[in-house]
Amino acid sequence: MSKIYEVSILGRATWDLHSLNNEGTVGNVTEPRTVVLADGTKTDGISGEMLKHIHAAKMWELEKNKKNLCEACKVLEPTRIDRFFQTMKREDRKNYTFEKATEKAIKECAICDLHGFLVQTPTGSRTSTIEFGWALGVPKIYRDIHIHARHALGEKAREKSSEEGSETTQMIYHRPTRSGTYAIVSLFQPWRIGLNNVNFDYNVDLEERKRRYKLSLKAYQAMFLRMDGAMTTTRLPHTEEFEGTIIVTNDNFPAPVISPLRNEYKETLKAIKSQIDALEILEFNNISDFVNKIEEISGKDLYTIGDSK
Ligand SMILES: [Zn+2]
Repeated sequence: MSKIYEVSILGRATWDLHSLNNEGTVGNVTEPRTVVLADGTKTDGISGEMLKHIHAAKMWELEKNKKNLCEACKVLEPTRIDRFFQTMKREDRKNYTFEKATEKAIKECAICDLHGFLVQTPTGSRTSTIEFGWALGVPKIYRDIHIHARHALGEKAREKSSEEGSETTQMIYHRPTRSGTYAIVSLFQPWRIGLNNVNFDYNVDLEERKRRYKLSLKAYQAMFLRMDGAMTTTRLPHTEEFEGTIIVTNDNFPAPVISPLRNEYKETLKAIKSQIDALEILEFNNISDFVNKIEEISGKDLYTIGDSK
């Protein structure tokens, strides 16, 4: 039976009237994030940090038993396992090498294991098994600025209104919204789940590795079913569609990441497949198809280093 090594998710998501990622606010105007493509085209972007954060938050939500997470990740604190070491006495930290710190993190916490962490003392880092690139607007993205007026009964207005009966203060905000199709790239490395990157031993058993693998796939399903991000309280994105390709490698071959910015990316992937046996391509034509295809791969066995087939 084939064992899953890596997964890449390459697709195009269509969101209407969202405000997921913004450059920042100057005065009362919030600017949308602008990025430049290789051919000089300016387009709209949603950062990989934002998408990765959303995936981690969905994993947290889907983890029924929060005891499977470290103290920091239980409350979604970004310090992750480093919080444990920061609160330790200096002399106790001496008993920990980074190898041992990694073992502790992997054993205690599914989010530290999959999403990676930095430890200050003993110094070291674990790179994430889940990666996201920028979501890039496939030209053209439609932008609009909506004026949002916040009415408030200020002190003066309150005095006045009690005299005159009706006047209120008003604050005007300029809020951007965007509509369009975005190219998504994400990479997931199941072979690294539970793998201590210092001594290359697996620190949890295969059953727990599979549990974490399924949790991560569920988080992918959840995030594309409801995209979170900035300004969702009043700019909750309208998800229209998500279509693309899930690439699975069933042997130790790195999963390719070809940008869905290119119209012919699916054809390119099919052409590559004829040369590389380890590749499996699962196309999805809509959001429900995406959920089904992810479900299909969730039952797969995981590739383990040193485990010859
Ligand atoms: Zn953690």
